[in-house]
Amino acid sequence: RAKRDGRSTYRFFEQSMDEELRDRAALEADLRKAIGEERLEPHYQPLVDMRDGHVYGFEVLARWNHPTRGWIRPDVFIPLAEQIGLISDLTWSLLRRACRDSRQWSDDIRLALNISPVQLKDPLLPNQILGILAEEGFAPTRLEIEVTETALVSDLKTAKAILSSLRSNGVRIALDDFGTGYSSLYHLRELKFDKVKIDRSFVQSMQTSSDSRKIVDAIVSLAKTLGLPTVAEGIEDKAVLDHLASIGCDFGQGFYLGRAMPAEAAVERLDPHDAGGARGAA
Ligand code: C2E
Ligand code: MG
Ligand code: MG
Ligand code: MG
Repeated sequence: RAKRDGRSTYRFFEQSMDEELRDRAALEADLRKAIGEERLEPHYQPLVDMRDGHVYGFEVLARWNHPTRGWIRPDVFIPLAEQIGLISDLTWSLLRRACRDSRQWSDDIRLALNISPVQLKDPLLPNQILGILAEEGFAPTRLEIEVTETALVSDLKTAKAILSSLRSNGVRIALDDFGTGYSSLYHLRELKFDKVKIDRSFVQSMQTSSDSRKIVDAIVSLAKTLGLPTVAEGIEDKAVLDHLASIGCDFGQGFYLGRAMPAEAAVERLDPHDAGGARGAA
């Protein structure tokens, strides 16, 4: 009896695995098509200056509205795009669209773009980025790229060369999801960053965990010692925002300050003098 149960369980697994694989293959094909047709959209999450609360820029976050499945999370399609070798196509189409969208905002508004670990292995990356910026008329000093430590461990030498080439052209570099990768302190010493982004897992739990609070305090103070500005991501309520401001965290991002939204909505979050683009203003 036990044997029979075992066998039917096995058959059940086999069948569901089969379905899963077919599902994945279908999703993969759809993603390939969506990227080819440039149907992935940039959404924009406000980046806020803690000193006065003004929005100084947006993080560009990829969004995919699947024709039948609806919105698919980036946690699902970004890794998939990496696996099928299309992450660069996705990133460049997103960057172009973001540069165009930002024409309706003032020249002071910055963009923060996520660069995948896979891309930091390609020595041609700086030329690609700078080429697109030149074509779209977007100043490199208005772009910040966000990299995670995962991107740095596999080929530190190449990553270092890529980042310093971008930096020498005015592009800023932020170390994303700080605190979750390993050997964090090593990378802070080996590479030049312009900002450290404290991972949202610590920020979100500051209210409920005194350890999280202590870790965030320590990261802010460590960064200050190194002369690095900090950005806290995942600010979901006022108490956390106030605490971060009180310890001198420089910048903030989170649902409390604004979610990722389409360009038309993002403009509403800007100060009136930033809402009109250089070219758009009549
Ligand atoms: P990330 O770069 O750390 O982006 C921040 C994520 O935190 C975003 O999730 C954002 O919506 C979410 N978030 C911000 N504030 C809050 C908050 O207060 N509470 C909560 N619960 N979440 C908050 P999203 O858009 O789902 O993106 C997830 C990850 O997918 C990103 O993490 C990034 O690693 C990746 N990703 C998104 N777009 C791109 C892209 O264009 N290229 C690459 N390479 N990766 C991307
Ligand atoms: Mg990011
Ligand atoms: Mg992040
Ligand atoms: Mg994160």
